[in-house]
Amino acid sequence: MTATTHDTLFPSAPESADAVLDGLDPEQRAVATALRGPVCVLAGAGTGKTRAITHRIAYGVRAGILQPASVLAVTFTARAAGEMRGRLRQLGAGGVQARTFHSAALRQLQYFWPRAIGGEMPRLLERKVQLVAEAGARSRIRLDRNELRDVTSEIEWCKVTQTVPEDYPAVAAKTGRDVPRDPAEVARIYATYEQLKRDRGMIDFEDVLLLTVGVLQDRPDVADTVRSQYQHFVVDEYQDVSPLQQRLLDLWLGGRETLCVVGDASQTIYSFTGATPEYLLGFRSRYPDATVVKLVRDYRSTPQVVGLANGLLGQARGQAAAHRLELVSQREAGPEPSYTEYADEPAEAAGAAKRIRELMDSGVRASEIAVLFRINAQSEVYEQALADAGVPYQLRGAERFFERPEVREAGMLLRGAARASADPEETAAGVPDQVRAVLSSRGWASEPPAGSGAVRDRWESLAALVRLAEDFATARPAATLADFVAELDERAGVQHAPTVEGVTLASLHAAKGLEWDAVFVVGLTEGTLPITYAKTDEQVEEERRLLYVGVTRAREHLSLSWALSRSPGGRGTRKPSRFLDGLRPGSAPRGARGAGGGAGGVERGSGGRKRRGGPVLCRVCGRTLSDAREIKLMRCEDCPSDLDEALFERLRAWRSEQAKTLGQPAYCVFTDRTLLAIAEVRPEDAGGLAVIPGVGARKLDKFGADVLALCAGEAVQESSEESEEGAEK
Ligand code: ATP
Ligand code: MG
Repeated sequence: MTATTHDTLFPSAPESADAVLDGLDPEQRAVATALRGPVCVLAGAGTGKTRAITHRIAYGVRAGILQPASVLAVTFTARAAGEMRGRLRQLGAGGVQARTFHSAALRQLQYFWPRAIGGEMPRLLERKVQLVAEAGARSRIRLDRNELRDVTSEIEWCKVTQTVPEDYPAVAAKTGRDVPRDPAEVARIYATYEQLKRDRGMIDFEDVLLLTVGVLQDRPDVADTVRSQYQHFVVDEYQDVSPLQQRLLDLWLGGRETLCVVGDASQTIYSFTGATPEYLLGFRSRYPDATVVKLVRDYRSTPQVVGLANGLLGQARGQAAAHRLELVSQREAGPEPSYTEYADEPAEAAGAAKRIRELMDSGVRASEIAVLFRINAQSEVYEQALADAGVPYQLRGAERFFERPEVREAGMLLRGAARASADPEETAAGVPDQVRAVLSSRGWASEPPAGSGAVRDRWESLAALVRLAEDFATARPAATLADFVAELDERAGVQHAPTVEGVTLASLHAAKGLEWDAVFVVGLTEGTLPITYAKTDEQVEEERRLLYVGVTRAREHLSLSWALSRSPGGRGTRKPSRFLDGLRPGSAPRGARGAGGGAGGVERGSGGRKRRGGPVLCRVCGRTLSDAREIKLMRCEDCPSDLDEALFERLRAWRSEQAKTLGQPAYCVFTDRTLLAIAEVRPEDAGGLAVIPGVGARKLDKFGADVLALCAGEAVQESSEESEEGAEK
């Protein structure tokens, strides 16, 4: 490797402290050079807040003013902390601690536990709900599923706002909380939950902060040690700090003013956990001598993206909105944001996947593309669509679908059920029913639970499995539950493979602070954004800010889309999100100022599948097909199938081999439905194969010869990639 390539791969650190400042504009420089604090940066998305504080630390360290070990940088997620450490290293300031509040507190607690409290540190409780349910039962209060979830959130809120059980009824009344049960009952459950936790020697997520706060408050010797270690504090995303985190920060500071905070009130998206932008907005009154810097130059996004972001904020209301800052793009013009309406969710996902492919073909890297949605359960349909299009992806902020605890548990139960029902008479039509029966015991029901949170997410995961079973049974009518379990295993297994270069799938919450060249904000309908359970004006405003966060993640390409119904053939009664009113072409502004975002018209998604050559007709009865599943099969579901079973099995075996060689999930090669259609149609030439939905030019090129050989009853030659690889060794 030559020195030049090495340098481009690993950029060398700036030569001097002053050189660190070279990459900053005058206001950012003011932040970076105000090393003694207090400093507060109030600025919109993409204006370089994170960059300014990173350079500030690096400048201080390189100039010998800050000792690396004396600086504690606090960011919002573990990933953001990791990225900051990386950037600091690049700037020649490795060794600075960049952590979340939680991980910084946990580290300190572990260190001081033996001295401050004694004995071994308790175990961390992973999930609260179960213990809250037990506390409810002990208190003789019967809670239904939704109440259980809501009482759990109430307990979390109490803990971050430092409300003890006895005070809860009074505080709830004073702050006008929407209480899930009689406040006295909530207080009783809360107190019992705390007792149970203590009895079992466990602590929960909030306890980590609470205990650290407690130790620092009660033990001046411990507080002194911590304070002599950390002298300088920097907090990113300060608009989302909770009262408890603020308390911890105050204790770390111990009256010193060596603090630099940056934030954007318009990006407050964690109010539901007790976070509040008041600390950011009230910084100057707490520190009258603070250096306050405003940044307005947006370095991230094109004027087109910034126009839409400003338009969205123009319609915002409430406290955070009063402090909005109009962004000014520093970049060259780019494409207008696109607005696309689809008939149903699978079509929306397929449409997004198609555009993603086009972007990739035009040179945008997969890792520079993101699909952002409101709730994690929306990811499944995109995982499938991207897999169908052969696009690699990675999930961020959410566990991969097959790694979610409820999905793993469901897998285990289904495996057990498959073993127990090894009845050869079991019909394929029974698979979805069997799956529904097994999953009902774990919280699946035909209708979703009301409200949000863990219970709803869990239901969505299980519903996705039921849909998968339905699709599977349609594709493989002869399959049994055991076959379905094997399919799940196959999918889960390959997802463990590390994805190096892939499109990011993430919730809007998890996308905070990040950026991509191309962003697809999907599912923009009333009920999803704003989500149904956002009832008060303040909750709706938070949903609007979520969309603002999503939109401002895009550097260049921004796509906004929605679907009129969930499933193919649905009634199409959904409405596009109210937040797009006045911005979406052809829509009337709602309420106050509507600023221009996108030009051009709303596009109608084609439904995503091959409909280019006019309607798709059933090849058995000739009816026009409208259901996405039937279109893929190229016939009505109940029309007789002329499946060549042996060919289908040969195709599946070949697909497994290919998938193994390519290190990709089997369905990235071809989905079951496509293989089924191939085994029914038995194409004789490339033309015949090309018209089968799910084949496409790229796959035709790559796999056409193999598939046609299999259809002709010939043996397929060894995978060429494998032999090439062998030759290299
Ligand atoms: P967010 O509110 O989304 O967290 P932010 O204000 O923290 O955004 P950054 O992530 O720091 O913004 O910066 C946005 C992008 O602009 C980054 O790619 C960053 O490198 C770039 N950038 C920031 N300042 C400058 C500058 N002075 N010159 C060139 N590029 C810059
Ligand atoms: Mg940032």
